[in-house]
Formats: sequence, C-alpha cells, structure tokens
Amino acid sequence: MLATETTTVTAEKNAYEVALENFDLAANALELEDNVRAMIKYPERELKVSIPVRMDSGKIIRFEGYRVQHSTQRGPAKGGIRYHPNVTIDEVKALATWMTWKCAVVNIPYGGGKGGVTCDPKALSLGELERLTRRYASAILPIIGPEKDIPAPDVYTTPQIMAWIMDTYSMMKGYPVTGVVTGKPISLGGSLGRNEATGRGVFYTTRSSCQNLGIPLQGARTVVQGFGNAGSIAANLMHEGGAKVIAVNDTKGCIFHPKGLDIPAVVAFKNRTGTVVGFPAAERITPEELLSLDCEVLIPAALENAITEDNAHTIHARIVSEAANGPVTPEADRIFDQNGIFLIPDILCNAGGVTVSYFEWVQDENHLFWDENDVNAKLEKIMTRSFNDVFKIHVDHKVNMRLAANMLGVGRVAEACRVRGLYP
Ligand code: NAD
Repeated sequence: MLATETTTVTAEKNAYEVALENFDLAANALELEDNVRAMIKYPERELKVSIPVRMDSGKIIRFEGYRVQHSTQRGPAKGGIRYHPNVTIDEVKALATWMTWKCAVVNIPYGGGKGGVTCDPKALSLGELERLTRRYASAILPIIGPEKDIPAPDVYTTPQIMAWIMDTYSMMKGYPVTGVVTGKPISLGGSLGRNEATGRGVFYTTRSSCQNLGIPLQGARTVVQGFGNAGSIAANLMHEGGAKVIAVNDTKGCIFHPKGLDIPAVVAFKNRTGTVVGFPAAERITPEELLSLDCEVLIPAALENAITEDNAHTIHARIVSEAANGPVTPEADRIFDQNGIFLIPDILCNAGGVTVSYFEWVQDENHLFWDENDVNAKLEKIMTRSFNDVFKIHVDHKVNMRLAANMLGVGRVAEACRVRGLYP
C-alpha cells in the first residue's frame, strides 16, 4: 500500500499550485524545518518584460515575456524558454520550480529557471520570430549568463532560436559567449546528442521501470501523446528497443495501429506534411480514445494537465512515463496509486534534456567537445543511477514515485541551503 496524503483539491488549480502542492508533500515527508522551507519553496526572482515587435506589415505588436529563476542554491538557474499562446507567469513559475528539483534529482550543479513568451509562433514569419527572439533576449539579458542563468529550448523553441539568443547576448557583451544557452546548433557549440536527449532519458527510465516491474520491453504496447521533440524521439527509441508503438498524436489528430506503427516512417511523414494525421494504413481515433487504450506504456509528451481527475480512471496503462512537464495532476496521481499504475515522474523521466544541456555547457566552457557515444554513455549512466535512487526511496519509504523523486530533489536543495546559510 502506498502512503498518500490528502490535500484540499479545487478544479481551478493551475500548474504553479500543483508545483507548490507537490513541494509541500515532499517537505512534509522529509519533515523539513520551516526555516529551510521559507528559503527554498518560492522563486528567487521573477522578471516580466514587454516585447514590441515590428511585424512584416509594418505594424508594431506588443508581446509579453517572462524569465523566472526559482533557485540558484546549487548552481546557476537552468531551464527552457517556451513560446505558446497559453504561457502565463504562473506556468513559467511552475516550470521553473520543477527545474530546481529536476536538476537536483539527476544531481547536476544547477538550480532551476524557465522563460516564456505568450505568442503563437506558428503564426509568425521567420523574420518576425527572429525579431521577437532578439528583443526578448535583450530584455532578459541583465539576468542571464553562463554563470547566472542558462536558457534552453522548450515547447516551440528551436536550436535556431537559441542561436539568435546566443548572438544577441554576444553582441551586447562584445565577444562570443556560447555558454549562455544550451540546445544550440552543433555548428555553434551545441552538443552531439542534445536533440535526442530528452527522448533518450524517457526511454532509459521506461526501460528501467519495465525491468523492475517484470514487463518485457519486447512487444510492450506503447502510446505517445504529443509527437514533437520529446515524444517522437521517445517513440522511436521504444520502437528500436522492441516495443510496439500502437498510437501517437499531435495537435491535428491521433493515429492508431493495433500491430504497431512504423515509427521512422511516421517521423518522415510528419517531417514532410507537418502532422502525423493521414499516415497511410493507420486508423484515426480521438484524443480520448488514445489516452484510454490498453497498453503497457503511456507517454504523455505534450503539455501540462493532460491527465486529471476527469480522465485518470480511463487510463489502462501499466506505466505512465511523463515526458512532458506536469501532464498528470495530483488528483490523477492518487487515482493512479489506487489503480496500481506506475508513474515515472517528469522531474526524473524527462531529465535527460537538462542533463545533456549540462554536458553542452561543460563542453562550451572547456572549449573541448565529446563524441556522441560519450554523451549517450554518460547520459545513460546518470539516468539509470537517478532512476535507481528514486526507486529506492519509493520502496524504502513506501511512497509513490512522484513523492520519492520530490523527496530526493527537495532534500538535496535543502541540504545545499543549510550549508550555505542565509545571507546577510
Ligand atoms: P515540441 O514543440 O517539440 O512538441 C510538442 C508536441 O506536442 C507537438 O507535436 C504538438 O503538436 C503536440 N501537442 C501540443 N498540444 C497537444 C495536445 N493537446 N495533444 C496532442 N499533442 C499536442 O515540444 P517538446 O520539446 O517535445 O516538449 C513537449 C513536452 O516535453 C513539454 O511539456 C516540455 O516542457 C517537455 N520537455 C521537453 C524537453 C526538451 O528537451 N525538448 C525537456 C524536458 C521536458
């Protein structure tokens, strides 16, 4: 029987409230002292910026952007930048908070940060996207830097966007600073293996879960929600590992084949057409049907709150691997516990991305680059060790995997905070 705690639940809870609730559960389980809670729970710094952009038509449109540094207790703030119409300050605060615990879970020397711009990048021309990025980069410039806060890609931001941020920062400084962002193109100090790293980490932690639960990876029916960077690469590695990926989707719709989809062919189809929909020899199903398919592994790889108390009881997976950040709400966690569904929490499952971002930063700072096998071998070691660390807490303390990961992450940040003490 898993130890679960009850808290008041409201339907309107947003991602930041979820992040705070998960912190409290971990802090309570660790019996963390109030003084430490006061120092590590809330963001250290929140910056909101106005971004006026001259559109191709000549009209100037104002966008809003954010950069939040949740913690610099264990090292510089680290976290991606999201371009999406639904970006809010609370979403960015939640994502920054999760970055803090995530970096601590995989034990890399970073705190947590996140940024976002409320915009629809799909509706912008390349020139508009570049002007928006450069203006946003100059607005957050005073608080970022390779020793302060290092952005990276997140939803709808790309290596090209990272290159523009690096260039803007470098022009202001007067010399090239490659270590100011990660997820850059390889030609600009990016790391081999970074693009695949999140999906690779999802695969390693899912494989470890299958081993521990006695589920053969060979033939494991797998469903992937969201076929972007994280989802498509996780799907491809599951496919290569012998699993049967039976359904995937993107914002345009879902495709299903009970015998398994040819994932490299789906990737090629999506690259050509912009969507998975229309892939030959696959059936169209609804997003609700996709989530409720009978399967061994479900990988939510889109956005927050995909699985809530409203649909958690429809999930028939044995393992849920959170490639996305925050796709499963605390209420849904409790339903998973009751139904014996094994969850690999986001701050462990998708930590491969930030881990290889860390490798990229190390390589940039040392001006010495590693080959891809080195990167992947180091990533595999860290992800497997981190999975084992979290799994041990799950077993020893009889808590679910979410709480176990949060206990590990929050515990490490608390320890750093205690030894640093309070300035002044
Ligand atoms: P991405 O922009 O490459 O892909 C997002 C995908 O999700 C797109 O294919 C889009 O069509 C799909 N999508 C969006 N809303 C959807 C919905 N409601 N239903 C189905 N599909 C939907 O983004 P990404 O980098 O793959 O990020 C996805 C998630 O993974 C996010 O939660 C992000 O924070 C998390 N993540 C990404 C990384 C990384 O390195 N890329 C690292 C850690 C966590």
